[in-house]
Amino acid sequence: MRHLITAASCLMLALAGLASAQDRATFNVGSATAARGEKAVGAIEVPAGSDAGTSIPVAVFHGAKPGPVLALVSGAHGTEYASIIALEKLIGLLNPAEISGTVIIVPLVNIPSFERKVPHVNPVDGKSMNRMYPGKMDGTQTDRASYLITKQVVEKCDNLIDLHGGDLDESLRPYSYWTKTGNEQQDRISREMVLAFGLDHIIISADRPKDPQASRYLENTATTRGKPSITVEAGHAGTVEADDVAALVNGCLSVMRYLKMAPGSPATIEHPVWVEKVVPLTSEQTGVFYPLVRRGTYVEQGMKVGYVTDYLGKVIFEARAPAPGVVLYICAVPSMTKDATIANIGVVAR
Ligand SMILES: [Zn+2]
Repeated sequence: MRHLITAASCLMLALAGLASAQDRATFNVGSATAARGEKAVGAIEVPAGSDAGTSIPVAVFHGAKPGPVLALVSGAHGTEYASIIALEKLIGLLNPAEISGTVIIVPLVNIPSFERKVPHVNPVDGKSMNRMYPGKMDGTQTDRASYLITKQVVEKCDNLIDLHGGDLDESLRPYSYWTKTGNEQQDRISREMVLAFGLDHIIISADRPKDPQASRYLENTATTRGKPSITVEAGHAGTVEADDVAALVNGCLSVMRYLKMAPGSPATIEHPVWVEKVVPLTSEQTGVFYPLVRRGTYVEQGMKVGYVTDYLGKVIFEARAPAPGVVLYICAVPSMTKDATIANIGVVAR
């Protein structure tokens, strides 16, 4: 999940950096160096610093024909499994001989989270791996990994898709984010990317950081550097369901067709639901959570979507929708603490 943040104040806009791989005989990310028409695998080595190092796997498909560089990244949250499995699958599907341009795939940024089954954060330093961009080398593991991903992946790509989903404790319906920067040309391309990806609910983000030096999220790190990019979410609560994985795999392939990196037409969605605002519903009490609606349910303002009891069954909080809209996700487990998110309600644009 990409959580809500307050608006940044800096108005500086990055100039578009043209990272086109058109004239490169080889293309490298970390230790993966691919010749034209070939695939290479390797890793972005994050050296030890104030804490342990890590090694982030990467696959590079340097297409036989020239074209743009598309980066696909998942597993910043290492237990958002459907998104990770989708990119594992794409690594097996793509054929560099058929690609125009270059595809960088980073399927699992947060290996400690995946291996230890810890949601939301990197257990090595307790930080979200989609919150510390553009990163720095004199910080903890997440800061250093974020810095190297900025240098090795973001700066080398023209377009980026950051894949997420509901975490272990989040029952999420699929949706994507379209960031509106105010740069008409860039926003047109990212809008066409998000429509080509094909998820039927799209959140319009107009409050994202504008300062490339304080970009926080991976997608915003690319967006603030002038690269049309999107974030997509599918999968929920530790599951790897075929339809969630297919939606993510097919979405990436469709965006490749939109960018003319693969033959054929994108499967562009014509009438998605545009979500203009996301309103979080938080718990006023610590206790046992019981949901009353499923992910994706449309609710009216004030409708009861769940309740919290104390540990002996007494109801201590009734969770009511703070706005009318669609339940983008709802807490999937009984563990509930004061101020934790019970649900996110997406208010549909009129
Ligand atoms: Zn996530």
